[in-house]
Amino acid sequence: MENFITMTHLSSTSLRPALFLDRDGTLMKEVDHCHRPEDVEAIEGAALALAQAHQQGWCNVIITNQSGIGRGYFSEKQFQAVQEELQRQLGQLIDATYMSSALPNTDSLRRKPAPGMIFEAARDLGIDLPSSYMIGDRSSDIEAGRAAGCRTILVLSGYGEAHRDARADYIAKDVTEAIGIALSRDISH
Ligand SMILES: [Mg+2]
Repeated sequence: MENFITMTHLSSTSLRPALFLDRDGTLMKEVDHCHRPEDVEAIEGAALALAQAHQQGWCNVIITNQSGIGRGYFSEKQFQAVQEELQRQLGQLIDATYMSSALPNTDSLRRKPAPGMIFEAARDLGIDLPSSYMIGDRSSDIEAGRAAGCRTILVLSGYGEAHRDARADYIAKDVTEAIGIALSRDISH
């Protein structure tokens, strides 16, 4: 009986949905290769929307390409300083961050549009991918989410207007509206 209870506990019903969130141009205003905390400006309403997601049992995860590190434009320490400022502005509501410093046009399995970072997060955090959303401002965000089996939302902040043809499941004005869509469409729990 003890074994049976343990197995039940590990069944797929214990997996949580996640909001996989692009960082630059999505959670915060677009700044080319942002590496200074003073340049960080979170999107209005994002902290409240992330809090609502937490209350409903969602996991909030950043999935971000940072080729500026790979190019030597800034250091991982500077990246972390930006992260800390963003977390402060978002009320410490990001549960985990996955970052790729790989350069574009490399064979990286992690750099978006590859879905590697989403799969890592799903494994590490116990995430149910079909009930999760990838939210971002570029077609590479949407491609990564689709390849991971998630639903997708393109936001029109950042570079979003130029990526309207990314074939996202939904298009939203910004991340605040996008999270609202995800939470209202969820029927898994
Ligand atoms: Mg972006």
